[in-house]
Amino acid sequence: MNDLIYLDNAATTAVKPEVVEAMLPYFTEVYSNPSSVYRFAGKAKKAMEDAREQIAGFVGAKPAEIYFTGGGSESDNWAIKAVAENYREKGKHIITSKIEHHAVLHTCEWLEKKGYEVTYLDVDENGIISLEELERAIRPDTILITIMFANNEIGTIEPVKEIGEIARKHDVLFHTDAVQAFAHVPVNVEEMNIDLMSASGHKFYGPKGIGFLYIKNGIRISPLIHGGAQERSRRAGTHNVSGIIGMAKAAEIAIADMEENSRKETEIRDHLIHRIEQEIPYVRVNGHREKRLPGNVNVCFRFVEGESLLIMLDQKGICASSGSACTSGSLDPSHVLLAIGLPHEIAHGSVRLTLSDTTTREEADYVVDNLKEIVERMRSMSPLYDDFIKRKED
Ligand SMILES: *Cc1c(COP(=O)(O)O)cnc(C)c1O
Repeated sequence: MNDLIYLDNAATTAVKPEVVEAMLPYFTEVYSNPSSVYRFAGKAKKAMEDAREQIAGFVGAKPAEIYFTGGGSESDNWAIKAVAENYREKGKHIITSKIEHHAVLHTCEWLEKKGYEVTYLDVDENGIISLEELERAIRPDTILITIMFANNEIGTIEPVKEIGEIARKHDVLFHTDAVQAFAHVPVNVEEMNIDLMSASGHKFYGPKGIGFLYIKNGIRISPLIHGGAQERSRRAGTHNVSGIIGMAKAAEIAIADMEENSRKETEIRDHLIHRIEQEIPYVRVNGHREKRLPGNVNVCFRFVEGESLLIMLDQKGICASSGSACTSGSLDPSHVLLAIGLPHEIAHGSVRLTLSDTTTREEADYVVDNLKEIVERMRSMSPLYDDFIKRKED
């Protein structure tokens, strides 16, 4: 077993050696700027356009609908800000959910300061939005629905196809943050009525700092980054050629192995959940049991402080997270756990374990064995737990 047990794959993943290998020539040999005119530039351009075509094929889009970006956050910002900008004569109302990634939530909050109105839909106890509520929220001035494909904290998968149908019926654009979903579960923009979709290379064993935004042909979009004529004059800046090649290679591998990886991860995920629920009292598993990312486990341990638990797991060589990389270090409980109805004190005791395609059952067992011991130890020092047990015994 590895010295390091890395169960934070929703935060980022290890780049596959085959991906590194595919990228290397584009640093030292084919280092040309694909926008230049000589044949040497054409080599880089050709490789980049092949990557675009490949990615388009993976999501059911046309190559001209794939725009390379600097990652998931940029794609989210661009999609939302550009639709807000270009459709404001139709209206200034946007619909999203309370459990979005901060790249979406903070962009929406920023737009509110600029005079837009945003409806933040509630989710049920499993983290799923209500389609009826969504439809009721649509107004004549609604220009965009932005709802994530799969949640990064609790792993819940939203009814994307149905959301897309509602959006289309009411002639409202639909953006989905598919950063956790793409290359992990089947995604198809055509079948799912998606107009704009964000993805990020480093969430599926590709490099960091590269992502893409799918923009359906015909949607009016203005640049987020102004400058050169790259990406049909919509995203300026010299192309990250090696990153683009790496992202396409990573997607190719992840999608070829999707069924197999999904089956393996689901099995280990359910084993983890089962053991935790069987062997540790006063726990709550967060997120939908079935409509869930194959590699996501999110559990609250009552009478335990999540951040301290993470530090103790770290001492055992286990990398886990309290929910999202963005809130760690702050004392605020996760907005996702609050949105599914957990009280503050329970939301504080959460741990997220996210698996990779190389996680083994042996590693999972090591993690549960340690969790059990640490949680027990922490509770034995907790006056709240002591009170709780005494009251129970009375
Ligand atoms: C990681 C993540 C992002 C941000 O992607 P970056 O490439 O790190 O900017 C956005 N949305 C979700 C759901 C994520 O998990």
